[in-house]
Amino acid sequence: MKIILLGAPGSGKGTQAKLIAKTFGIPHISTGDIFRDNINRKTELGLKIQEIINAGDLAPDELTIEIVKDRLKSDDCKNGYLLDGFPRNIPQAIALDEYCAPDKVVELDIPFDIIERRLTGRRNCSACNNSYNIERIGDRTDCPFCGAKLVRRADDNVESVKERLAVYKEQTEPLIDYYLKQNKLYRIKADLPEEEVFENVKRVL
Ligand code: ADP
Ligand code: ZN
Repeated sequence: MKIILLGAPGSGKGTQAKLIAKTFGIPHISTGDIFRDNINRKTELGLKIQEIINAGDLAPDELTIEIVKDRLKSDDCKNGYLLDGFPRNIPQAIALDEYCAPDKVVELDIPFDIIERRLTGRRNCSACNNSYNIERIGDRTDCPFCGAKLVRRADDNVESVKERLAVYKEQTEPLIDYYLKQNKLYRIKADLPEEEVFENVKRVL
């Protein structure tokens, strides 16, 4: 199955993506994770996109599309994929349709005021990449799952969050209509506990 996970930053895409990938035996492909990995390793790509990403803006389409196409060529994508964070605008969606169109698009729907709180209070594990919120875990600095150090993403500051939400509204939201017209869109209420959200996701897949 070829699945796209759509939703604003902070809607819980990463968390749901991990669960879906595990349950359906398809690879979780997150363009954000790929970019952050390149930034951490200081690759040529990483150095090129670092400032754009930390400011909350989109990496160039041409580059992003190439990275995804390349990743989809891997053996583990034979039975499908779970794309998280791609496509993020209409040109990327058209490129994907021409290359390897999705079967279903799951949209995680969440009010914008909840998102700001989720993102600015988010902490990510530097090893297993799980994410948590300080409203739940308080001020602990080690990952409750694996014990590694928790870090705050460089783009989870108030200014970058504002920019990411603006970019989402302007560039990504039109994809909802795009996939509605293709009859592929499934909208899921995402301001619920993650287990409940996942139950509803499973139902439509
Ligand atoms: P979030 O959904 O929480 O904003 P992601 O990890 O999906 O986080 O993305 C982080 C950043 O990586 C984005 O703000 C953007 O700068 C860049 N990025 C990720 N996916 C894409 C994409 N498909 N096209 C362009 N830039 C992207
Ligand atoms: Zn961890």
